Amino acid sequence: MTKDCQMVWDSCLRIIKKNVTPQSYKTWFEPIRPVRLENEELTIQVPNKFFYEWLEEHYVQLLKTSIRQELGDRGRLLYHIMDGATTPATQTPDPASAHPSADKDNEPVPGVFDAEMIKNPFVIPGIRRVKIDPQINPNYLFENFIEGDCNRLARNAGMAVAKKPGGTAFNPLVIFGDVGLGKTHLAQAIGNEVVSRFQSKIVLYVSAEKFTNQIIQAIKNNAVNDFVNFYQMIDVLILDDIQFLSGKQKTQEIFFHIFNQLHQNGKQIILTSDRPPKDLEGIQDRLISRFKWGLSADLQAPDLETRMAILGAKMEKEGVDIPNDVLEFICYNIKNNIRELEGVMISLLAQSTLIRRDVDIELAKEVIRNFVTTINKEITVEFIQELVAEHFNVPVERLHQETRKRNIVIARQLSMFLAKKLTNKSLKAIGETFGGRDHSTVIYSCKAVQDMMDTDMIFQDTVSELEKKIKLSLNH
Ligand code: ADP
Ligand code: MG
Repeated sequence: MTKDCQMVWDSCLRIIKKNVTPQSYKTWFEPIRPVRLENEELTIQVPNKFFYEWLEEHYVQLLKTSIRQELGDRGRLLYHIMDGATTPATQTPDPASAHPSADKDNEPVPGVFDAEMIKNPFVIPGIRRVKIDPQINPNYLFENFIEGDCNRLARNAGMAVAKKPGGTAFNPLVIFGDVGLGKTHLAQAIGNEVVSRFQSKIVLYVSAEKFTNQIIQAIKNNAVNDFVNFYQMIDVLILDDIQFLSGKQKTQEIFFHIFNQLHQNGKQIILTSDRPPKDLEGIQDRLISRFKWGLSADLQAPDLETRMAILGAKMEKEGVDIPNDVLEFICYNIKNNIRELEGVMISLLAQSTLIRRDVDIELAKEVIRNFVTTINKEITVEFIQELVAEHFNVPVERLHQETRKRNIVIARQLSMFLAKKLTNKSLKAIGETFGGRDHSTVIYSCKAVQDMMDTDMIFQDTVSELEKKIKLSLNH
């Protein structure tokens, strides 16, 4: 490693540090090592492919700015991806010792600036059958878009569209759902599928934000017609995050025109949105009514099994071995956002590479704390009551009331038993949280539960399941 490349990278880091949170800096930038500087190309080494993708997705702009500042306009950044998560990040890779099968992975991956080479749509107005880069990520495929109840309709509709673009009733296909639930992945999977099935079809993915910026440019350059002509050549147009068009009158007007042309000509339109079309605000009614012409399908938050399947598949693809309990722990605690789920995992791998610690639940807890802000570390009696009541399918208030109903009595006794075992509350305090019972009732309950466990294997399993669930959950 020459001194120069270290110096250049250090200067970049100074810029980066000012622009990201200390936690992000620690997670994403400290593990990076500069390895080479040649012809205004700086090669940096990152721990794994995930890491590289994360940087590309979240910090492209920042990296670009800092590199340009240091190396001028011709500055480029290349990535060197280390083999697996166990190689220490502090070591400069030695090509001779690299595992042969890892050679491919160890080649520098063209970096952020290649994205800049993407064709400017305006250079090819009016010419048909030109090669247009669809601007889709080749890794977003159907095969790695795990199916679950949460996405079945959208996924199937997407597949139908990919098999017959423009030829189904699903035109436009609107995929909507909260952030991080897979809209972009699914929309791009459709694009990839079309590209592989129909070589001659022109597919284009564009975010609504980029689309808007292109329109602003076109207006500035007096080239709106070229712009519209360009978009009319597309066979499958994927416009991502249309809520971004809200309030942008001129963009909506031009899009309205493009939409009509494409639709009339049997071209496929795929839109994504963070809410159902009817709830989009600041978007012209005539557009909203067109969005409703086809099918709107939502993506919901995945259940635990689907979350585990998604994360498990990602890890397997990366060749990373994560203990199952850690996987389960993470999926238990990150519920509403798949991107966050991946974020935790990547961060976990990065941390373990960095500090050379095994990936275990303790480390996972630390990492998750940085992602989930509302974590209360103590297990409370109330939380135990809620989980147990849920398990026995009884309203939690019933645990506090007088009753002889068998399942409520058992739920109450079991809650007391678990409260005794998992919290450091006194018998008296526990009794009080159950509608003011006294400590002898708690002792009696614990004994009753223990007796049942000793004689009933199924009950014993129930108790261990619940205990595990309580311990695993950080969100109490
Ligand atoms: P959105 O566009 O809705 O914000 P993304 O499409 O960017 O969400 O998805 C966030 C992350 O979650 C991506 O890395 C994506 O690959 C992953 N993801 C979402 N849904 C699935 C799924 N069903 N199977 C596998 N990965 C998924
Ligand atoms: Mg998206």
